[in-house]
Amino acid sequence: MNVREPKAQNRQAQLADNLARVEKRLTVACAAAGRARREVTLVAVSKTWPASDVVLLAELGMGDFGENRDQEAAPKAAAVPGVRWHFVGQLQTNKVRSVAAYAHVVHSLDRIRLVRALGRAVGSTSLEGTARRSLPVLVQVALDGTDPGRGQGRGGVPPPRVPALADAVASMPGLRLGGVMAIAPRELDPSAAFTRLAQVAGRVRSDHPEATWVSAGMSGDLEQAVLAGATHVRIGTALFGDRPPHLR
Ligand SMILES: *Cc1c(COP(=O)(O)O)cnc(C)c1O
Repeated sequence: MNVREPKAQNRQAQLADNLARVEKRLTVACAAAGRARREVTLVAVSKTWPASDVVLLAELGMGDFGENRDQEAAPKAAAVPGVRWHFVGQLQTNKVRSVAAYAHVVHSLDRIRLVRALGRAVGSTSLEGTARRSLPVLVQVALDGTDPGRGQGRGGVPPPRVPALADAVASMPGLRLGGVMAIAPRELDPSAAFTRLAQVAGRVRSDHPEATWVSAGMSGDLEQAVLAGATHVRIGTALFGDRPPHLR
């Protein structure tokens, strides 16, 4: 291995340990669900953690990283090229241009205004110096009945409004409808939440067969998500450690 300071070596050993534990959980969950491990993409949510951690984890083979705030994600993506960046946080119209310049996937589209803004931004930015045909976008589903911009503010559109938003994404040049995403609401059992998400995902797929991605599952509920058909799990704490409590 390469020459590193002891501190970085310790951190990498810790990350390797955490990664092995998460991999084990995923393997067990996939086996229990009768699914192949390769059907599920592990996205390491690196929010609040330094770019150096992303580098250490990338050296261990991790290729997909998630961030939820543009202010933090943009410099990190610039510092660590050569991995795929997933934007998983609430997106503001004025951040769309910045996000389009580094994101390989956007998981959190929940407003019609963002569809046009993102489509336009993709058309006018390049990714890694090359013109890009289309950005995969997931429609974020609110499973607790809150409207975007209200309630507990975790984003997402209520299930009845998902098909129209999915149609808008699918017909926007520059964007490709990937599927749906959700965060299990605190007050709902994760299995129930992800079962509901699977129904919404099925509805979207019946209109758009190519939209096969289901982004669901975090450190505390990845097993339930995999059982309900998640194709992407977004894991922060179980890989990097506990975040300070005020930062989500
Ligand atoms: C922070 C975050 C995660 C990761 O959560 P953990 O519980 O730390 O695994 C996943 N998805 C989104 C949208 C997040 O903001």
